Amino acid sequence: MKVAVALLASAALATLVPASLPAHSRPADTVDPSLPTQLPRTAIPHHYGLTVTPHAGRLTFDGRVTIDLEVIKPTRELVLNAADLKFTSASLRQAAGVATLPARIATDVDAQTATFTFPNTLSPGAYHLEIAYSGKINTQANGLFALDYKTKAGKEARSLFTQFEAADARRFIPSWDEPDYKATFDLTARVPANEMAVSNMPPASSRKIAGGLKEVRFQTTPIMSSYLLFFANGDFGRITKAAGNREVGIVMTRGNEAKAQFALDAEAQILPYYNDYFGTPYPLPKLDNVGGPGQSQFFGAMENWGAIFTFEYAILNDPAITTEAGRQDIFVVEAHEMAHQWFGDLVTMAWWDDLWLNEGFASWMENKATGHFHPDWGAEIDRVASREGAMGLDSLNSTHPVVQQVRTVEQANQAFDSIAYSKGESVISMLEDFAGPDVWRDGIRRYIAAHKYQNSRTTDLWSAVEAAGAKGLTTVATDFTTQPGIPLITVGQSQCVNGSTAVTLTQGQFSADRPQEVAANPRSWHVPVKANAGGATVQVVTSGRTAQLTVPGCGPLLINPGQYGYYRTLYTPQQVEALTTSLPRLAGMDQYGLISNGLSLSLTGYQPMQPGLDLLNAMPANGSAKVVQQIVGRWDSLYDRLDGDSAAQGAIAARVVRAYGPRLQALGFTPRAGEPAVDALLRPTLIGTLGKYGDANVRTEAARLFAAWKTSPDAIPGSLKSTWLSVIARNADAATWEAIHERAKATTGTVERTSLYQLLGRAKDETLARRALDLALTNEPGKTVSSGMITAVAGQHPRLAIDFVLAHLAQVNELIDISGRSRFMQRLAGSSRDPALIPVLEGYANANLAPTDRKPIQQAVDRIRYESTQAPRIRAETAAWLTAHPAG
Ligand SMILES: [Zn+2]
Repeated sequence: MKVAVALLASAALATLVPASLPAHSRPADTVDPSLPTQLPRTAIPHHYGLTVTPHAGRLTFDGRVTIDLEVIKPTRELVLNAADLKFTSASLRQAAGVATLPARIATDVDAQTATFTFPNTLSPGAYHLEIAYSGKINTQANGLFALDYKTKAGKEARSLFTQFEAADARRFIPSWDEPDYKATFDLTARVPANEMAVSNMPPASSRKIAGGLKEVRFQTTPIMSSYLLFFANGDFGRITKAAGNREVGIVMTRGNEAKAQFALDAEAQILPYYNDYFGTPYPLPKLDNVGGPGQSQFFGAMENWGAIFTFEYAILNDPAITTEAGRQDIFVVEAHEMAHQWFGDLVTMAWWDDLWLNEGFASWMENKATGHFHPDWGAEIDRVASREGAMGLDSLNSTHPVVQQVRTVEQANQAFDSIAYSKGESVISMLEDFAGPDVWRDGIRRYIAAHKYQNSRTTDLWSAVEAAGAKGLTTVATDFTTQPGIPLITVGQSQCVNGSTAVTLTQGQFSADRPQEVAANPRSWHVPVKANAGGATVQVVTSGRTAQLTVPGCGPLLINPGQYGYYRTLYTPQQVEALTTSLPRLAGMDQYGLISNGLSLSLTGYQPMQPGLDLLNAMPANGSAKVVQQIVGRWDSLYDRLDGDSAAQGAIAARVVRAYGPRLQALGFTPRAGEPAVDALLRPTLIGTLGKYGDANVRTEAARLFAAWKTSPDAIPGSLKSTWLSVIARNADAATWEAIHERAKATTGTVERTSLYQLLGRAKDETLARRALDLALTNEPGKTVSSGMITAVAGQHPRLAIDFVLAHLAQVNELIDISGRSRFMQRLAGSSRDPALIPVLEGYANANLAPTDRKPIQQAVDRIRYESTQAPRIRAETAAWLTAHPAG
């Protein structure tokens, strides 16, 4: 639909603007015509001078922007991105300073564009486009948005933030809102005089103006993509630290300064490390991380250049509620967003097709930095967990390549998935291992130096790393980033010849939902396969169907030691048996990788359940805490699959309690000063799982703590509060549920309050789950809290939550970011294996999503279909295995 609002330029708008263009302007067509674009490639913006006046109380803002641009092809119109903006006036001045041209403005709601048409054709050259407009302040994280919260004194307060990635800068500023239109920005904000305004750059000036306001003018940004612009204002505090010759800072709602210290220390630690790693120093004068009181179903933090945004739960270390996992996440999330300051902000993907360059790289770097500064946190196990997460999606027919086609705004939003993040991370881990860490780093340095302040594509990265010395990397990298799916390496019979193990490897493709089809017609990769048989580790790069491998030693043959490879390995039964026996002696990451590999093959039918369960059962109870945490999760996932078979579930519960109960006893129910961080992580996992299985010790302690907590909120240690209350909430009766509800209402701290409301969604009791859903649609929890309650209900009752959402779709959509809406249903279906849900999901997609935007639903459907097909076999074989292997 194209709505025309004819307007004439007002003379008053033609204010003084510099008549010359910035030095970097080029007369040629510098915009890459091969990129997909929603905008005609007729003009290039160079600089935006924006003044914005938010009206927080009435959720609107006024904006006035002057864009210095260059017309590169004769045209009568300029097409910009704009969404939900109302235009007051627009005019165009030629740089030479001749007459002002009035513009007729037409907006296209579906295309999210505004077209400015002029009385005559514009010849190529420099112009200034001046636009006055107004826009909406949203209540979810899109464009300029408000987060409401309660101050410590219990007063209602509102702060404002922006969130623009992927395509929401256009809700704040009419602009060429695509990543390859890089420009500089001057932002001026008129805000209440007693509040703080924050943007990418430090303020250049601040002066009081009428109406109790001040006008803050920020320094000019470096040339950057529009999605990286940032603005916030509110009753903030800011703490800072020097990191070399730059200032790092944490901005947060006032009063939370002490809770921000952990994030500030991390930021100051990470910046010099990245300066060194990337070889190009961080270019802006300061780097803030701005905390916002709320949450989103789409994202947790955003890498705006110089002004990272992070929701409070991932930036404030709150002794009243932050778990050990949450505390570590503060470091990890910051390491991720800071890596983007180079990978994404300084060098930006040319188009969303290459989004993985941003997200895969930052995900990989977050673990690298975490491993560097906190070697005791077990980041290498998280790396393996990431690979397993990616393979869950990548084993479905509806997966997609790492480098994928993105044509619509919605597809850009959907591109932020586990393929971009976790498969991207896993492939980079494999390639770093292939290149060697020093060569890889040198390649990254070349890449950053060659493309800084510009846009790049995936192939530019491979060229830079090959040029640094990683021979053959491009072949491997291209196979893994342009093809979807997972290689399957089938290992032939081992032969011991002269003290070495000789085997034939056969390459195929692993598929959860179409094993026959891919076996008949598998994709082919160049796979770097490593192997160890008790001597030195060797590597071969497969090419074609089979490869011969000779490995020193005749011990158990382990494929993929170190777990850098992105593939599944199907061993012979004898090989699995030998590995099962030797499992206790393997490194933690290999124990975890091998068990995950075995279970995955068993659950998808590539082998019976028995070898997978044997491996799982071989994990020593006194193994690495971080691995044990994962292994307990694997048992628990089997427990859920056996729903309805109380004998088999009882057998799993007994086995887990018998194996890991003593471990919990040794850890104790209470955190100990100075204990290893991984122990502090394992404790909540064991409390939660044993509590779920009805372990008497855990239930008794939970009841005792809950009784004390009802009268004193500090009776449960903050780092275990959500753990213990989860055990309680899951088994809650009406009185217990109401007690948590009352405490949620009375709590002011946003993070604690949010987590209490979410606990209300965890009840197993269906009546209470319904109450949580009804409560989510009231104004009580708060605009960004409600969707998390619905998600919590879906954990236990996916069908109930989905039916509820479908019955209240318009209301629920108001509670979710625009960018997250098309994926919310996929998330709600995440814990379901019920085939009856398939037509419900398909009906939802057909009625509400464009055919181009249905991939997330298709993925949910594919997963449910194959899991429900495999379920009878998995249940029967697991029950039989449990009977044959009594817990003791
Ligand atoms: Zn990211």
